[in-house]
Amino acid sequence: MEKFDVIVVGAGTAGCLAAKTTAEAGLKVCLIERKRREEIGEKICGDALGEHHLKTVGLEKPQGGELEKRIEGVKIYSPDLKTVFTIEYEDYVGYLLNRRLFGQWLLKKALDKGAVLLDSTQCLEPIIEKNFVAGVLAKSVKTGENIRLKAKVVVDASGFLAVVRRKLPKEMGIENEVANEDVEACYREIRQLKQETEKTKYCEMYLNQKVTPGGYTWIFYKGGAKVNAGLGVCMRGKFPNPKNQFYKYILTKPLFEGSLLLNGGAWYDPTRRPLDNMVGNGVAILGDAACLVNPIHGGGIGPSMLSGYLAGKTIVEALEKGDVGQKSLWPYNRKYMEMYGTKQAGLDVFRMLLLTSRNEDLNYGMKYRLLTEEDVLKASLGKEFHLTITDTAKRVLRGLKRIWVLNKLRLTVNLMRQVKAHYKNYPENPEDFEKWKMKTEALFNEARSKLIE
Ligand SMILES: Cc1cc2nc3c(=O)[nH]c(=O)nc-3n(C[C@H](O)[C@H](O)[C@H](O)COP(=O)(O)OP(=O)(O)OC[C@H]3O[C@@H](n4cnc5c(N)ncnc54)[C@H](O)[C@@H]3O)c2cc1C
Repeated sequence: MEKFDVIVVGAGTAGCLAAKTTAEAGLKVCLIERKRREEIGEKICGDALGEHHLKTVGLEKPQGGELEKRIEGVKIYSPDLKTVFTIEYEDYVGYLLNRRLFGQWLLKKALDKGAVLLDSTQCLEPIIEKNFVAGVLAKSVKTGENIRLKAKVVVDASGFLAVVRRKLPKEMGIENEVANEDVEACYREIRQLKQETEKTKYCEMYLNQKVTPGGYTWIFYKGGAKVNAGLGVCMRGKFPNPKNQFYKYILTKPLFEGSLLLNGGAWYDPTRRPLDNMVGNGVAILGDAACLVNPIHGGGIGPSMLSGYLAGKTIVEALEKGDVGQKSLWPYNRKYMEMYGTKQAGLDVFRMLLLTSRNEDLNYGMKYRLLTEEDVLKASLGKEFHLTITDTAKRVLRGLKRIWVLNKLRLTVNLMRQVKAHYKNYPENPEDFEKWKMKTEALFNEARSKLIE
C-alpha cells in the first residue's frame, strides 16, 4: 500500500491551499476528491472574495476567466429599505469569481507543486491506529472499489460534511458535531437578467427577519447581465425553507422579471466561532469542516485558504521534527486564532445580537444611527469599537424610543471585547486547553443567555 506524508481530503479552497503548501516543501501529498477533476471548484456560493485574503496567503490577483467582476464595497439595506449603509474600505474591495475556474486555478497550483490528485474518490472514514489518525478508508466513485490510503498526517478539508472530523474518536479532543443553530441553510441561483443593470459596483445585502430569520439576502452583480442571488436562514427552531423564501420574496422583485436560471442549489454555511481545537494526533481540520467562516456575512473562501496555508506550514514543521502528535500540530490552532479566529469569535457574539433583533429595531437602529456604518465596519474588521460617553449620550438622545436597542448594543460590545481578550490568550499548548475551553464556553453561554434567550 502506498504511503504518503499527507493526505488532504477535499479539493476545495482549503484543501488546495493545504496541498500546495505541503507539496511545495517537498512532501509527498495526495489530494482526495469525490468530484470529477473538471468539476472541482463548483460550489453553491456567493462567489465574492476580498482581495486582502489572497495577499495573506501569497497568491497573486486572479486575472483569467476565474475573475468575473471587481467589486468596490458592500451596501447593507435595512428591512424597510429606507436606510442603506455603504461600506467602502480596502478589506471590502475584491472580486466576484467564476467559482469553478477559481477552483481549477487553485487546484493547478497544488498539482504544479507535485501533489497527486485522486478524483472521483470518496473518503469514508479515518483509519485510527494507536490513538493516531494513520490514513483514510476511501471508495472509488467509478468502480465502487474500497481503497485504503496511509499517511503521516490527514487533513480534513471536506467542507461542511467534515467526513473525517465527524468520525474521530472522542479522545482526539475535537468536537464531532456542530449545533444546527450555528448553521445557515442557504439557497442560491445564478441568473441571467434581461439586461445589465447600472448598479454593479457593490455587493448588496438585505436584512429582513421575516424573509431571512438570522441571515440575509444577497444580490451580487457579476459580469454582463449575470447575477448571483441567494439567501440564508439560521437553522434555529422552526426555520423556513430557504428556496421557498427565495421564490416568494426575492424572485418576485422586478429585477428578476424575464430572467433565466443558469444554476441553482442549496447548501450549508457554518457561521459560528472556529472549532475550539482543530488538531489531534496526525490530523488537522480546515475550512468549513472547522467552522472557519465569518459569522456575519458567511464568507469562508478567505479563511479556508488561510487555514490551508497555516495548517500546511505547521505540518511541514511537524514532519521536519518527526513528530505529528497533537502538540506538534498545535501551532496551527494558535496561528489561526491570532490571524482570524479572534475576530471570528467576536463576530459570533455580534451575530447573536442580529439573530434576535426585530425588523422594527433594525429599521430604527439603522435610521437613527444607534448602530453606525463605522461600527459595522470596525466590527467586521475585528477592530475594537468603544461607545464613548459622549458617543453614548448622543445615541441615547437619538434612541430614546428604543433605549433597549442601545442597551443591547452596549452589552454586545462589552461581551465582544471580553471574548476577544480571552482569545488573545489562546493556550500555547494542549495541556492548558481544557481550562481555556471552560472559560470560552462560559463566555458564550453568558452571551447566549443575555442576547438570545
Ligand atoms: C450559499 C453559500 C454562499 C456563500 N457565499 C460565499 C461568498 O460569497 N464568499 C465567501 O468567501 N464564502 C462564501 N460561502 C462560504 C464558502 O463557500 C465556504 O466557506 C468555502 O468554500 C469553504 O471551503 P472549504 O474548502 O472548506 O470547503 P468546500 O469548498 O466545501 O470544499 C470541500 C471539498 O471536499 C469535497 N468532499 C466532501 N466530502 C468528501 C468526501 N467524503 N471525500 C472526498 N471529497 C469530499 C467536496 O466535493 C469539496 O470539493 C458561501 C457558502 C454558501 C453555502
